[in-house]
Amino acid sequence: MRQSFFDTPIEFIKGVGPKRAELFNKELNVFTASDLLHHYPFRYVDRSRFYSIKELNPEMHYVQLKGKVKNISLQGQGRQQRLTAEFSDGAGVMDLAWFQGVKYFKTWLQEGVEYVLFGKPGIFNRKLQMVHPDMELFSDFNAGPAQGYQPVYSSTEKMKPFGLDSKGIYKIIKQILSQMPDQMPETLSVNIKENYKLIDRIKAINLIHTPDTTDDIRNATYRLKFDELFYIQLRLLKSKQSRTEKLNGHIFSIVGDQFNNFYHSHLPFQLTEAQKKVVREIRTDMGSGFQMNRLLQGDVGSGKTIVALLCMLIAIDNNTQACLMAPTEILAMQHLESISALLTGLDLRVELLTGNIKGKERKRILEAATTGEVDILIGTHALIEGSVQYKDLGLVIIDEQHRFGVEQRAKMWEKNQKPPHVLVMTATPIPRTLAMTLYGDLDVSIINELPPGRKPILTLHRYDNKRFELFQFLKKEIALGRQIYIVYPLIQESEKLDLKNLMEGFDIISEAFPKPQYQVSIVHGKMKPAEREFEMNRFVRGETHIMVATTVIEVGVNVPNASVMIIENAERFGLSQLHQLRGRVGRGADQSYCVLMTSHKLSHEGKVRIETMVKTTDGFEIAEVDLKLRGPGDLMGTQQSGDIGLHLADLGKDAKILELARQAATELLDTDPAMISSSNNMITKRFESLHSDSRNWSKIS
Ligand code: ADP
Ligand code: MG
Repeated sequence: MRQSFFDTPIEFIKGVGPKRAELFNKELNVFTASDLLHHYPFRYVDRSRFYSIKELNPEMHYVQLKGKVKNISLQGQGRQQRLTAEFSDGAGVMDLAWFQGVKYFKTWLQEGVEYVLFGKPGIFNRKLQMVHPDMELFSDFNAGPAQGYQPVYSSTEKMKPFGLDSKGIYKIIKQILSQMPDQMPETLSVNIKENYKLIDRIKAINLIHTPDTTDDIRNATYRLKFDELFYIQLRLLKSKQSRTEKLNGHIFSIVGDQFNNFYHSHLPFQLTEAQKKVVREIRTDMGSGFQMNRLLQGDVGSGKTIVALLCMLIAIDNNTQACLMAPTEILAMQHLESISALLTGLDLRVELLTGNIKGKERKRILEAATTGEVDILIGTHALIEGSVQYKDLGLVIIDEQHRFGVEQRAKMWEKNQKPPHVLVMTATPIPRTLAMTLYGDLDVSIINELPPGRKPILTLHRYDNKRFELFQFLKKEIALGRQIYIVYPLIQESEKLDLKNLMEGFDIISEAFPKPQYQVSIVHGKMKPAEREFEMNRFVRGETHIMVATTVIEVGVNVPNASVMIIENAERFGLSQLHQLRGRVGRGADQSYCVLMTSHKLSHEGKVRIETMVKTTDGFEIAEVDLKLRGPGDLMGTQQSGDIGLHLADLGKDAKILELARQAATELLDTDPAMISSSNNMITKRFESLHSDSRNWSKIS
């Protein structure tokens, strides 16, 4: 293929050269002209007007001002040193402050000269202040061509000394824009562009870097976001299409003895209607002849384990094996325990396989998997590694909490002639946009009902200084025969400190709840598994009243008699974690409580999280708030937004565009399933190039 301009190594763009090229490679992952065109601005400065200091308030974003400085002064000593100045535009005055590069700015700033200043207004000591504003001489500003909206690009500290700050990057991008051919490969069909009112790709790329109006910004970002989301959806829908094109699944045609025996004689409770419905959906799917790829969503405590087990029994009835994969070793162990308990008295072999099981024991289990003696294998990632050969794996259940991506899921069954059915269970409800992106290739089953007889958990927020009253309340609950969790956060910076916090907490609690009247357990991640298990079991058997723990208990312990969950430093937990923790109580018939302890100092976000928890127990509502607060990157876990082709689009904010892009992709596959029509030529080409190059989904050609 002919090398196109867009593939030009960045080094050879005028004004770059080898040194800067190296920085572009290392710091921004930018290698070619095309890569840099896809380094989009993350915001714009409105250069079309100067604000007046009188108009400013701390809620505003970046603004541009014009004025002079005076009273430049150095304050503090050593690392505390800062530079301050007064900035006045004739109508008003505000403070400027620098904490870094203090000496440099001290010599650079001059009184009496007119500056143009960009920055975000804030408040300090009840006065307007701007910290580290971008400044340039008004005379320079006037000479420059800047008008309309000036793009701001991310750059790094290492790049700035080489002239590659936002402005330096802008210059190079403009260079590329002026040099590039006026034909840039289009990536969407005429039809889609017309139907969804999208501007041409080349225009969008131009406008995103050099907009004149807010309309330009809107049109360009809409087009480019649509593009990103469209190709993600197309990939998912394609994957679903190819799965349902071939009749290549195990056909589980019978519901046999294992299922029936368990269902009629060993089921510890009546299934809820939602559980029954979901089991039916899965059973039908597994009997259809197509390979199942299904997502099972159900809030914490909704009873997914029993559903998983029933499905595994169907697989066994059809002479295949099943495996259940958990994200962590502890969770795998707990699954093993609960499944073994449910299967007591039945002639089935269940084994655990994790990375820590080695030597003879491992060999024994691997052999049993190969011969088919193991019916159910429970474990971590180790379950799908090459060394594990199943006799005939019919069903894989993944209890995943978003940890496996589409690609990984596909890889699991690539090697099988007949791929196993796959059921992905998520404990955390996922907002719709995220589900559509992470699991858009799956069918979905939802358990939308909790087992009966549960009283809604009462959630309270208490400040640290109310601890004494809290302890009184806990004593009352213990007197009623209930058990209590007290959870401490992990503060990632220092494991030692975490342990110290936890141990201090444990000491305070042991003192307030003295032996022999009260028994207190402690569990944390640094304990040996055997010790941890011993302590957990004491609590499970009701021998201790209080379980002091780090978040290790998040992952699925089940003690229906526990009715109170205290979360210390609750402001440090994410929403989904709080929701998971709260789900540990409220499993019995008693009124349960969740108490969120915080200090009086709460960030805005912290406050929103706490208020949300107090207000609702609906996992989906919580997930939506979470997405808004954190942005999708965090929620997607190890799967980075960039990796799947999201650069500009934001799943938290672009739900509408996502829906439209999915609709466009669906329409395309409906009308041209094999993507062979010449009018869709460019789509097919781009789709294939994105597929062959997973490093960079944003490549133009
Ligand atoms: P999760 O969906 O969070 O994995 P589990 O499967 O651990 O939930 O179930 C939570 C609790 O509810 C367990 O104690 C389980 O035994 C119980 N449970 C599940 N289904 C029912 C039901 N239909 N009736 C009564 N209790 C149930
Ligand atoms: Mg579970």
